[in-house]
Amino acid sequence: MDAPHSQVFFPSNFQELFSAWSRFPDAVPFAGGTCLIRGFPAGGSGMSELPALPKNILSLDRIDELKRITRTERYLEIGAMVSLNDIIALGKSIPEALSKTLNGIAGPQVRNLATAGGNICSAGTPFGGIDIAAPMTALDARYELRTAFQNRWISALRFSSFGSSALAPQELLTRIRMPLEHWNYTVCRKFHSRDLGGETGGVMVFIAKNEKNLLTDIRIVFAGSCLLRDKDSEGFLKGKKLPLDHKDAVHYREMWSAYLSGMEKPGPMLKAKLINCVESCVLGLAD
Ligand SMILES: Cc1cc2nc3c(=O)[nH]c(=O)nc-3n(C[C@H](O)[C@H](O)[C@H](O)COP(=O)(O)OP(=O)(O)OC[C@H]3O[C@@H](n4cnc5c(N)ncnc54)[C@H](O)[C@@H]3O)c2cc1C
Repeated sequence: MDAPHSQVFFPSNFQELFSAWSRFPDAVPFAGGTCLIRGFPAGGSGMSELPALPKNILSLDRIDELKRITRTERYLEIGAMVSLNDIIALGKSIPEALSKTLNGIAGPQVRNLATAGGNICSAGTPFGGIDIAAPMTALDARYELRTAFQNRWISALRFSSFGSSALAPQELLTRIRMPLEHWNYTVCRKFHSRDLGGETGGVMVFIAKNEKNLLTDIRIVFAGSCLLRDKDSEGFLKGKKLPLDHKDAVHYREMWSAYLSGMEKPGPMLKAKLINCVESCVLGLAD
């Protein structure tokens, strides 16, 4: 018997989406398509220039709820279908760590198509995005995941530790909620695999804030072939006076170094670069 035809669904609300998904459980959500098209090599149809897309596709393009951006005094909520460029266009409404990271992803054409949800959900796939996980984790963002029957919230830290496998079958990422806080110091550094002898690169985000001369919060997150955030070393510096005592800054660097040496990934070249970067960020706060 012939296999059923391939289908593309264009649901305009969640009910239609989950109804199509229950009838075609193998259907794949299609957001900006930049990862899906890049990730599926040409099929054996003889038209090798065409990408072989998944058989059944659920286009998310007509679900308006996924394109919403809302802002309260404490939070910014971004729908999964908001493009990376539309997030950048929010300007000073978004934390600098996020805008700097997004500006470093691909070129403007790809960023016009690629969506926040697509970047997050493609993590762990061969051509997936990894960069957004660094600012989202550092900023303590949370993601709303939804199935036909329930919705749940998951921290960016937890989601990114699992990559796309954090999603249950037929589960959709619907929105991202980010606390709006003022960070006095932000450093974002992108590591390209071409400078690492082919090792997978990634992004490191450093954010810190102070009240008067007290350091009230500090976070360093790396996202690449793995996700790194050391809460012990963060705790060591919180509450210290600024400028930091040089000895404390050096001790923080040593804590990070010990944390990294216990990690299987990333490789030695990137580990060395990360230590240098942590050192220059934290010494920047010292006398
Ligand atoms: C030339 C080029 C350069 C790039 N450079 C970088 C880079 O420097 N850094 C980086 O991080 N990334 C990079 N990328 C990857 C890019 O960021 C991702 O391709 C993009 O973010 C994916 O978003 P999308 O909307 O196109 O997702 P799609 O391709 O539509 O989907 C990606 C995956 O996520 C799933 N998905 C999408 N939305 C949802 C949802 N709401 N819920 C559940 N599952 C969903 C899809 O089913 C699919 O498996 C690059 C891509 C290209 C093409």
